[in-house]
Amino acid sequence: MLFGRKNLFSATDAFPLTDAVLEFDDSSSVAVRPGRRALDGFGPRGERSASSKWWTVAGLIGLYAVALAGFYALGVVRAQVLWVLAGLTAAGFAVFGAVFRSGLQRKLRLRHLKLGIVTTAIGGMLVVFYLEPVTQILLAPFMFVAVAYGIFTVPRRTLLVLTAAVLCAYAAVIAAHYAEQGNDALLRLELMHLLALAVSVPAFIVLMGRVQRLYRSLYQASRKIKNIQEDAQRDTLLGCFNRRYILAALEEQKQLADESGIPLCLAVLDIDHFKRINDELGHLGGDEVLRTFARIAQQGVRGGDVFGRYGGEEFLLIFPATSLLPSLNTCERIRAQVESHAWTGLLKGRVTVSIGVTQYVLGESVLEFFSRADTAMYMAKEGGRNQVVVEEPIAKGDSQMSDLSIPSSHAFL
Ligand code: GH3
Ligand code: MG
Ligand code: MG
Repeated sequence: MLFGRKNLFSATDAFPLTDAVLEFDDSSSVAVRPGRRALDGFGPRGERSASSKWWTVAGLIGLYAVALAGFYALGVVRAQVLWVLAGLTAAGFAVFGAVFRSGLQRKLRLRHLKLGIVTTAIGGMLVVFYLEPVTQILLAPFMFVAVAYGIFTVPRRTLLVLTAAVLCAYAAVIAAHYAEQGNDALLRLELMHLLALAVSVPAFIVLMGRVQRLYRSLYQASRKIKNIQEDAQRDTLLGCFNRRYILAALEEQKQLADESGIPLCLAVLDIDHFKRINDELGHLGGDEVLRTFARIAQQGVRGGDVFGRYGGEEFLLIFPATSLLPSLNTCERIRAQVESHAWTGLLKGRVTVSIGVTQYVLGESVLEFFSRADTAMYMAKEGGRNQVVVEEPIAKGDSQMSDLSIPSSHAFL
């Protein structure tokens, strides 16, 4: 984890607003979508934000329950109403829990789920209002809270329709109260509340719509920035990491190695006689060889290793938290795979790679580290190409390499 490249140059680190704004993406399903190239590590963050959504809902219901309990303490609400609220809450969570367990939420969009939550919450408050008319005092502010909860995800028009439906239901409850109690004073009071809600909630929704639009454009901007950042890390021809990224990753890994003392290795890979390949196949043919080579190399490395193009037909392979021997083994595996790949036509048996590999010495500069790997690669060239050469570092002070059995400047083949 410490050495995973996602942590090093995560787009969301550079633009942390992304996660917050994703919350308001009404085009997303509830299930967390992977980033465009699944490099962003949205998974864990997404799970966290999904659970935080439930805590938000539970917290808001809790606030309503606290207020209702206060009303009970004041003697204006019966104890049974508290039980009804508890029952409604339990039923609501059971229904939404069942939706999640069945995986149905993956087919739903976030706005649909939030609309369901808002509707259920307001419906529950209307039931409580029917049972205890005095709770209309709570219904008004909590209706704003419920609408605010859905405002960034549920479209404005849907919320306005919902408000109209709620006001109709509110009117029906008022009618029911009057039919049961025939209380003119209560009727007037409830109609005043209805009127107040009828004029203020739609105005609130319309005003909040501006904020909704602002968040939407923020979301789109943050997505664009993320895509640009991803593209800026990639080699346009080969799709692997580019020189800028790989050198930044090398610097970052050197610092991590300095801090932790964990081994770090680096390989320089150079395709043999590539000029000849170009001369015979043309540059487009050469490009295709480069693409195939990059694919073979990327498939041959482990998840945490970082492979990228340094320039032309030269590549770097960083082995975080890896000592020399396993790094050497990976290099040898790549060399063998390139050699044995089913190259067609003129290329058959002619595409090979020379690799130099070395281990980082604590405290040395990136340049010294890189130069040693580069020297090893040139030794592989001099030794006849198509081979891996290890340049064993000479440790400063007491040797950290003393246990290595691989001789210095050892040609693997
Ligand atoms: P060696 O075995 O000593 O490495 O010989 P080489 O021919 O591979 O090395 P040299 O440095 O002489 O030639 C590298 C060639 O790679 C020259 C350059 O035109 C070609 N090259 C660099 N970048 C690209 C590219 O993006 N596409 C193509 N097709 N060729 C490229
Ligand atoms: Mg070459
Ligand atoms: Mg070269």
